[in-house]
Amino acid sequence: QEDNHTETLKNNAVVREKNGNRIMVFVRVRPLAKKEKEAGSRCCVKIVDSSHIYMTEFTTPNDYLRLKRIRGGHFTFDACFSDSASQQEVYSTSTSELVEAVMQGKNGTVFCYDATGAGKTYTMLGTVENPGVMVLAIKDLFSKIRIRSYDGNHVVHLSYLEVYNETVRDLISPGRPLVLREDKQGIVAAGLTQYRAYSTDEVMALLQQGNRNRTTEPTRANETSSRSHAVLQVVVEYRVRDAAMNIIHGVGKLSLIDLAGSERALATDQRTLRSLEGANINRSLLALSSCINALVEGKKHIPYRNSKLTQLLKDSLGGTCNTVMIANISPSILSFGETQNTLHWADRAKEIRTKAPDANEDLLPVPKTEKDQAKLILGLQNENR
Ligand code: ADP
Ligand code: MG
Repeated sequence: QEDNHTETLKNNAVVREKNGNRIMVFVRVRPLAKKEKEAGSRCCVKIVDSSHIYMTEFTTPNDYLRLKRIRGGHFTFDACFSDSASQQEVYSTSTSELVEAVMQGKNGTVFCYDATGAGKTYTMLGTVENPGVMVLAIKDLFSKIRIRSYDGNHVVHLSYLEVYNETVRDLISPGRPLVLREDKQGIVAAGLTQYRAYSTDEVMALLQQGNRNRTTEPTRANETSSRSHAVLQVVVEYRVRDAAMNIIHGVGKLSLIDLAGSERALATDQRTLRSLEGANINRSLLALSSCINALVEGKKHIPYRNSKLTQLLKDSLGGTCNTVMIANISPSILSFGETQNTLHWADRAKEIRTKAPDANEDLLPVPKTEKDQAKLILGLQNENR
């Protein structure tokens, strides 16, 4: 398995070099759920090898009980994870490179895309026993920082927000809706809590607290499904000495996003709040797909302004950023419609090219004495942002 990671990571680097920087797209199939098994549900997808997945073709009665042919087929992605892939394997293959890049001042984004119940939250947040990408990324980050602490100083700030009904809310200290503003670092939510993090242990608790603050509403598709998009931003600011004894100051930002379910509004309740919500969730996801389409077609104008979600993702999708998309699917034949839809979008997202990220770094004037240099580097620890 270790060998597999190294192989995939090498592969990823080759792909980036060959195609310019492009979105890396991964697919993860979750195990059949107990309910699906009890319903005698068959599987409609099969992982062929580490980068190929096959969706079976079959016929099924449509709403008018006429037979309808469901198109499947072969798909290729940067990696396909089977239901036995561990959280660590998913993290190492998809995201560990981005964590390394963030420590060199390069921005990165990871987002999960799928219908409710296919495994986004499991992949991004995970459980206490099996923490997901968000937690593993921060754990990895802190261990890398520890290793490099001899010649530099790193400060980590976290923020956690949700987009719900086209409103942006702080999940760490919930309160009034936040306003999005554009500044030279990109889009920022004014007044968002920047939580200074010192260790991995506190992060899981913080995220779980944040998730309790998320807006969840029962829908027909999944009773505890979350109807909001959650965005965790990890900002790493650092002062380090390079080999030439320069003192480098840099800032890298990693955004980890748990999107709301991509199911069509029709699959859930149509009435009142739910339908308004559905419309707005779809507005964000629809805007996301328009942006993806425009990016794939190489259009000049990308309609980021059409929703809060795409505004937030502006510098992550087409900009100078390493971007990873993880598409989660259920293997059950009961979800073939959603699976087909997800595979289609994931397949399309492969075409998006981004510009290789520049490092957000600059050189600081180096003080004469060793002592003053150390002071400058350590000073970061006590400065307020
Ligand atoms: P979503 O956030 O996409 O709606 P969840 O992450 O909540 O879906 O997953 C739905 C259920 O399936 C949860 O009970 C979750 O624990 C389980 N699950 C999802 N992916 C996996 C996996 N790879 N391995 C084991 N259980 C999983
Ligand atoms: Mg979820």
